[in-house]
Amino acid sequence: MADGKQGVWRAQERRDGGLLDQESLGVLLQAVRRLEAGFAKLPEFEPSAPGIQRLAEVLTAAAERLRDNYPYFHPLYAGQMLKPPHPVAHLAYTLAMWINPNNHALDGGRATSAMEKEAVAEIAGMFGWKDFLGHLCGGGTMANLEALWVAGQLHPGKKILASKQAHYTHGRISGVLQLPFESLSTDTLGRMDVDALAKRLERGDVGTVVATMGTTATGSVDPLPEILELRAKHGFRVHADAAYGGYFVLAENLDQNARSAFERIGTVDSIVIDPHKHGLQPYGCGCVLFRDPGVGRLYKHDSPYTYFSSAELHLGEISLECSRPGASAAALWATQKLLPLKKGGEFARGLEKGRKAARGMFEKLKADSRFITAFAPELDILVFAPRGDSVSESSALSRKIFDAAAKRDLHLAVAELPAHFWKKHLGGMKRDRETLTCLRSVLMKAEHLDWVERIWGLLSGATSQVMRRPAQD
Ligand SMILES: *Cc1c(COP(=O)(O)O)cnc(C)c1O
Repeated sequence: MADGKQGVWRAQERRDGGLLDQESLGVLLQAVRRLEAGFAKLPEFEPSAPGIQRLAEVLTAAAERLRDNYPYFHPLYAGQMLKPPHPVAHLAYTLAMWINPNNHALDGGRATSAMEKEAVAEIAGMFGWKDFLGHLCGGGTMANLEALWVAGQLHPGKKILASKQAHYTHGRISGVLQLPFESLSTDTLGRMDVDALAKRLERGDVGTVVATMGTTATGSVDPLPEILELRAKHGFRVHADAAYGGYFVLAENLDQNARSAFERIGTVDSIVIDPHKHGLQPYGCGCVLFRDPGVGRLYKHDSPYTYFSSAELHLGEISLECSRPGASAAALWATQKLLPLKKGGEFARGLEKGRKAARGMFEKLKADSRFITAFAPELDILVFAPRGDSVSESSALSRKIFDAAAKRDLHLAVAELPAHFWKKHLGGMKRDRETLTCLRSVLMKAEHLDWVERIWGLLSGATSQVMRRPAQD
């Protein structure tokens, strides 16, 4: 990218609040001074630090290494689930690193433990929960591990069910926990097939059903109301894996299926949500919530050394992980102070913009005979493929378009999806493979909405080049 152009997008990012700049670094310095003043009465000491010259050399070398990345922060990165943390999260995280608190126990992170409890209560509040148990953790994997660990203890020996489009972590975690696991087929929209679930439940050995509230591949939302109806009849636990989609409970532009599923999410038994996916946080921030705070008893242990300074709840008493970054809690707390988790608020509007961008792109793809689409996006994730004579030809073209788009600085992703998702749209295409390699685009940044035309232009150009066919409007 030419320097002049870089200046343009940097300015744009600054307006949108995407990157740290001189001004926000000044704000950070002020906050650091304020923090340091709290410890001013301590006697001085000389911290061991390397010389500034050596530090600069190593940091420059690190910067060189870090250039080997896709530009995740830029709207032209429209591939995987990657979104830059909000500047306030970045700043609050860095500020907390002056202390480097550990939220395992109050001894290690008094202020940040309190901030974690507040921030997590706000997340639980989004789902209508007041009296609950929950905490932050390393990410969605760890959060799901805790949820299934609790599920396994409450229904020992019983099956965990999730759909074939659920995150692969559920099968693997069940293996770690030695819980029997089965996956269920999906319908052509990538959602759990409730008829298959109803049939499977007749066998009476199911303890927990994982409802994915936004699958990782396509953003499909499992039909939660129907799953809950079956729970009323069979009495299993429902765990909502909302690692990706959870925040969409605040969005007011969802279609019928997703809307009715999110309306009922508060009635499930446990929820996983990833602030490091849609919550504008740096990596290392997942969250698990349980509707019944009584499950806290399952975590019971008596460590002889960790908890001696206070009778208050230490987060380590209700968490499988021990040491955890207090900085994550500070970042989340600050972000939610600036952007409260409210319907109609700035944060919710940001989610709605990504969804609108995905809808806009979908309409363009649908109207262009060079492409096939499987289904309309339920959240902000799109899947599409170039039309070919066969599924295998279309798959090969997908990879070529991925490369051609990347050369034009548009970064997409590829996904391998069951051919039956595309059944209605294959037309005369020969179905010579069970899966179709398609293109996938996660339009999760609010800025994506203003970039739909640009993204479409680049995609269309890359496609014409690969297919040697001009755009058709
Ligand atoms: C991302 C994701 C996970 C895994 O979470 P990590 O934060 O990557 O560990 C689990 N389930 C779903 C639905 C996800 O999208």
